[in-house]
Amino acid sequence: MLHPTPAGLFCPIGNFYVDPVRPVGHALITHGHSDHARAGHGSVLATRQTLDIMRIRYGEDFTGSEQAAGWGEEIVIDGVKVMFKPAGHVLGSAQILIEKDGLRIVVSGDYKRGVDPTCAPFEPIPCDVFITEATFGLPVFHHPDPKTEIEKLFTSLEQFPERSHLVGAYALGKAQRVIRLIRDGGYSEPIYIHGALARLCDYYQSQGIELGDIRPATIEKSKPAEFAGAVVVGPPSAFQDRWARRFNEPLISFASGWMMVRQRAKQGGVELPLVVSDHCDWPELLMTIEEIAPQQVWVTHGREEALVRWCELKGIPARPLHLVGYEDEGD
Ligand SMILES: [Zn+2]
Repeated sequence: MLHPTPAGLFCPIGNFYVDPVRPVGHALITHGHSDHARAGHGSVLATRQTLDIMRIRYGEDFTGSEQAAGWGEEIVIDGVKVMFKPAGHVLGSAQILIEKDGLRIVVSGDYKRGVDPTCAPFEPIPCDVFITEATFGLPVFHHPDPKTEIEKLFTSLEQFPERSHLVGAYALGKAQRVIRLIRDGGYSEPIYIHGALARLCDYYQSQGIELGDIRPATIEKSKPAEFAGAVVVGPPSAFQDRWARRFNEPLISFASGWMMVRQRAKQGGVELPLVVSDHCDWPELLMTIEEIAPQQVWVTHGREEALVRWCELKGIPARPLHLVGYEDEGD
């Protein structure tokens, strides 16, 4: 019913792929991150929000045709039933339940279990085969409470009131979540954003995700002091170029699950690492598998071996799929 191919997971009965990494005829897409949602498919079935996000990122002609799947709506494709349920990863992100003759397979895409007011929370779906990622699939990965991470930003703003705090966050999902965390922490000053985030921030706001007073971080050469003590959010790549150097004594921060790894922060010249992840950490992966109690677990990408080993010790048959092409842009 479903097997890995170089283009991605393929369902021969329904003749569709899930999150294909190459252009295909029929694609089912879990969420809008660029490694999962690519342009150029003949048709795309995804949630309304994922379709909207693809249109924003790739333009009007991102696919030949599109179909929006409502949450929990049963859609039949050549006798195969599919259903989209929230994955808690980014706005519009879904797990896809694929069912035929009583066999239920869930492709969870990327997902997390922590609280995130910028998207619908993960819903555990009873199934026979649970297909999971393992981006942070090692026992060393424990993500702290994102609220305490954002506190570090507030502390730094108090400590260095003159410095522009440049917070690196990927454009889809992380940036909006970080802005929302800053707002929920009680910060009501304007937050400045890099132009690359503008359309997605606007889209989130149009979907009812309040981000507060957001302004473009356009800076004139003559007035670098304008952003003294301000919070500026931008894609991490922007901090390598001239744009970042225009700010007043810029203090570089980066919100990512990878900030758990001290060396990564050091290498990237990150002065203030904030561990904020849109993926499960190790305890959340285990909790999810225990809760769903599937007959089998397939691990798509990430640190597959440790999770496969853990499943086997628990008596759950598991296999790594070694899918390539999923280098998550979201964390
Ligand atoms: Zn993702």
